[in-house]
Amino acid sequence: MPDNTVLEVSETGTILSVINGPHPEAVFYEGVLAPGFVNAHCHLELSHMKGVVPEHTGLIPFLKTIPKHRNDFTELQKSKARHNAYEELLQNGVVAVGDISNSTDTLDIRLRDKLHFLTFIEAIGFNEDRADIAFGYASQNYNAFAEQQSGKFQLRQAIAPHAPYSVSRSLFRKINAHSPGSTITIHNQESKAEDEFFLSGTGGVTELLGSLSIDYSAFRPSGKSSLQTYLDTITTDHSMIFVHNTYTQREDVQYAKNKLDKTFWCLCPNANLYIEGQLPDINMLLEEGAYICIGTDSLASNHQLCILSELYTIKQHYPYIDWELLLCWGTLGSACALQMQIQTGHISEGLAPGINQILLLDETGVKPVVKRIF
Ligand SMILES: [Zn+2]
Repeated sequence: MPDNTVLEVSETGTILSVINGPHPEAVFYEGVLAPGFVNAHCHLELSHMKGVVPEHTGLIPFLKTIPKHRNDFTELQKSKARHNAYEELLQNGVVAVGDISNSTDTLDIRLRDKLHFLTFIEAIGFNEDRADIAFGYASQNYNAFAEQQSGKFQLRQAIAPHAPYSVSRSLFRKINAHSPGSTITIHNQESKAEDEFFLSGTGGVTELLGSLSIDYSAFRPSGKSSLQTYLDTITTDHSMIFVHNTYTQREDVQYAKNKLDKTFWCLCPNANLYIEGQLPDINMLLEEGAYICIGTDSLASNHQLCILSELYTIKQHYPYIDWELLLCWGTLGSACALQMQIQTGHISEGLAPGINQILLLDETGVKPVVKRIF
């Protein structure tokens, strides 16, 4: 927000007016006032797995470990962890979340009604013959979420594919046909092994599928990158959030932009550093004019659920990117990615986007602090 701007805010957080100051009754806040953060990619249902997988294992060992230990916890432990994670999001100034779900565990926290939710019901199944079963399971979960009524905060849901190597082409087509115009999200090119699998049918993904006893005998490598293989199953009515993009190449971004009208590139840098120790090529994304949004991924691959911490990590590696642009990625950029710009992501009259005070942005090398003030 520009200097000297005065916000008149109701007790419930609705912005009544935005005035050019100064104003005699205004309360002055140091630092920067910004709209609430939007977390475009999270997995609240995995919150109980904080610290279970060590850092820097690489994606394939990480993916092997999650299903092995996911159910080593009681329902009470899982529920407590989810609720704590929800509180953490609120404390860190988040007002809306794109939350991945392959269970119905997060139905409870959606009803707390302090965050807007777009829950992505994850469909997973690489065996072409089992697409009906995989889609049936996702649909059942989708229906459970769709039955919930929005309160003050919006509750929405959409079915989304897990990743290129875990979703068959038949399943991709079913997801595409489920809800025309919906936002689809996918874990995209998070490891080098992913493209290798689609280019030549070899590498770490074959090892992963084998270890999970998944029959991929019908799979034939396309000789193209993963993105350029699966994207022909998605029609242009959908907007697409590609998540991670750690190994995404310029040609992939160009291909996606030519194929679809609305493409968003979600960065989860702290999770990338946690798992692979590698960041996406953000220079290239900027050069290609990619629409960028920000997520935290889950507490299984992150030390905290804090969008400002993600932005700080980007700033450390790309110091020339202005804070103004970074804050825009974590607010309006992510709101647009979730199609929530009508509810949040910017400071405008009539909106209740949450207001954060952000301190220490100008102190080089010092981690900034976020305080929710409305
Ligand atoms: Zn994820």
